[in-house]
Amino acid sequence: MNSPKITLQTIKQQLDDFVLNSPKNIVPDLGMMRLFDRPLLAVASADDAYWEELKRPEVIGPCHLSPTEWLSGARSIVSCFLPFTESIRSANRSEGEPATEWVYGRYEGGFFVGDVCRFLVDLIQRTGGHALAPSVNERFAIVNLRSNWSERHTAFIAGLGTFSLSRSLITTVGSAGRIGSVITDMELEPTPRPYTALEEYCRKCGACIKRCPPMAIDKSGKDNNVCRIYCDGTKVRYAPRYGCGKCQTAVPCEARRPPVAQVAST
Ligand code: SF4
Ligand code: SF4
Repeated sequence: MNSPKITLQTIKQQLDDFVLNSPKNIVPDLGMMRLFDRPLLAVASADDAYWEELKRPEVIGPCHLSPTEWLSGARSIVSCFLPFTESIRSANRSEGEPATEWVYGRYEGGFFVGDVCRFLVDLIQRTGGHALAPSVNERFAIVNLRSNWSERHTAFIAGLGTFSLSRSLITTVGSAGRIGSVITDMELEPTPRPYTALEEYCRKCGACIKRCPPMAIDKSGKDNNVCRIYCDGTKVRYAPRYGCGKCQTAVPCEARRPPVAQVAST
């Protein structure tokens, strides 16, 4: 185990600088549009009991690897939520077809999240720790639509937010964004998990139900298969890009944790 040679505050400062100044966070095709704003960062302990919970078939399943199965001696997991910029979110507030800005956010944004993960790995390694980012690791796999590392569940365990009716993760800066994480043998102080319920930040207002073009969402949750087929179908117009994200835009949880009072009047 490595004693801490870097603090979460230092990681945050350097990550902010990387995200806000990287040319890879810019899309020249779309008038130099920026993909992501300042990220949220949190830390989970490799000892957290939730890792074992994820192995239950009704959660993800035994295919989900725990931090120590990814990295021997793992102590901490740094989870990062990258919120989409207003440019991407506002463009997708229309109904029907996904906005071009949104599909760039999903596709180019996905590559940038990989860059963010590699940046964090390199940062930790330069301070003497070992680190690994499952989503860009050669062992990462998706079998029967279940991955061996879930960024959303990791973010939940780290305290970044809770799940929603549309199965996105609602953070204090909303649900429209992407998530990455890095496992390290550095001992970092876990951040508090300021909630107790899985869907605590979702007010069940139903706005996402009305936004979904293929009606994949109802009061009991989201049909992942209906969503996936619809999103895959958008490749006809946008290939290699694709996506939808209507359930994460023009809804109370788009860019904040929805306040109770607002949802009550929705
Ligand atoms: S739109 Fe409402 S019901 Fe849907 S995820 Fe957001 S808060 Fe929950
Ligand atoms: S991404 Fe689109 S298709 Fe999928 S649940 Fe959200 S609104 Fe529906």
